Amino acid sequence: MKGKRVLIVGTGIGGATAAVTLARQGQDVHCIDIKPERPTAGAGICLLHNTMRALEGIGLASACLESGMPFSVFKEFDAAGHLLHAHPAPPSCGIRRPELARILEAAAQKSGAVLEKGVTIQDLIDRGECVDVQFSDGRQASYDLVVAADGVYSGLRKRVFGAAFEPRFAGQSVWRFNAPRPEEADGFCLYRTSAGKVLGIFPTSQESCYMFYLESSAEPLRIAEDQSHVLIRERLAEFDAPAIRDALDRITQPQQVIFRPLDITLVPAPWHRGRVVLLGDAAHAPTPQMTSGAGMAVEDAVVLAECLSSSNSVGAALENYDSRRYQRVKRIYDASLQLCLNEQEDAAANKDRSAALLLETYRYLGEPI
Ligand SMILES: Cc1cc2nc3c(=O)[nH]c(=O)nc-3n(C[C@H](O)[C@H](O)[C@H](O)COP(=O)(O)OP(=O)(O)OC[C@H]3O[C@@H](n4cnc5c(N)ncnc54)[C@H](O)[C@@H]3O)c2cc1C
Repeated sequence: MKGKRVLIVGTGIGGATAAVTLARQGQDVHCIDIKPERPTAGAGICLLHNTMRALEGIGLASACLESGMPFSVFKEFDAAGHLLHAHPAPPSCGIRRPELARILEAAAQKSGAVLEKGVTIQDLIDRGECVDVQFSDGRQASYDLVVAADGVYSGLRKRVFGAAFEPRFAGQSVWRFNAPRPEEADGFCLYRTSAGKVLGIFPTSQESCYMFYLESSAEPLRIAEDQSHVLIRERLAEFDAPAIRDALDRITQPQQVIFRPLDITLVPAPWHRGRVVLLGDAAHAPTPQMTSGAGMAVEDAVVLAECLSSSNSVGAALENYDSRRYQRVKRIYDASLQLCLNEQEDAAANKDRSAALLLETYRYLGEPI
């Protein structure tokens, strides 16, 4: 099928990639986002081998590699910054999130998709033959398919699927900040204290890197966000590694620290109701341990476009999409959650078990989609 009118709600990583894949396959794509502008600030993101393979398939891997930084090593350090181990890792690319957004949105527009910012859905009626949509600015239009790519807190999922799949707290919160890249951060790096605290670093370009620290708590952590620059220093006080001390010295404003509790969800298949289908975090938001949430969203976008172009009806395409995506995504979601639980229980005691699960899941990610 070609020439189908598709509305994508959300121009995040999943929605923007779907705009590229669907427009390139000849669908008539309209993409909206509630935010008035593309984000210009944000942390980094790791695009694993399977994500890079999917981006390569739509011609966007080289742009990511040019803006970001490729790496294929996993390093472990002690808290003082002494290198303990270096292992080969699957070829990945670290990139700043605003850069990834720029690359995806530019490609979507070049492919013929129409992108609009500062607009959302006011009302939606699935009439069986089409979906009638009323927008927040009063306009109305009809579509053959509506893609809910509006993230983990998806309002469209709640409207169409009900409240059963609202996200739940995963028992950890994440602190993130950007820094100039120290020379040693040429791969995925973990620094461990003897008390079991772990700080991660990976490059986001030749010049920059991103640092993250996961904190476990039974209940969602509430912090004074205007003090987050002070709070992160307190939490990382035991890390003496010069790379970490140098980065922390540069953290002088709360806005430099991105803090959020980890909320997760996995909607069981089917991911569609009538002509509305979920994609990306709206369908499956894992914990970040497998660095795969965005990768799964990118794969969703590739597979959805393939299913639409190779099916005779929207219904058949969506069934095909569900059957190709659900088991794969569930395996990654389960592995990520298990790694998260291992850390909460006892990161040091579970280190070998977690490493084995990570390697096995990396291998699985390399299988064809
Ligand atoms: C700490 C952390 C680290 C991570 N690290 C990695 C990593 O290294 N690698 C990786 O692959 N994944 C990673 N992820 C996961 C990744 O960030 C997400 O899976 C990915 O961003 C999901 O993309 P998405 O497009 O589905 O949703 P989002 O990126 O959340 O985009 C949703 C979009 O919808 C818009 N929107 C929301 N509501 C509406 C509405 N009502 N109307 C219109 N638009 C709306 C939003 O403005 C937004 O632009 C990480 C996640 C976390 C929390």
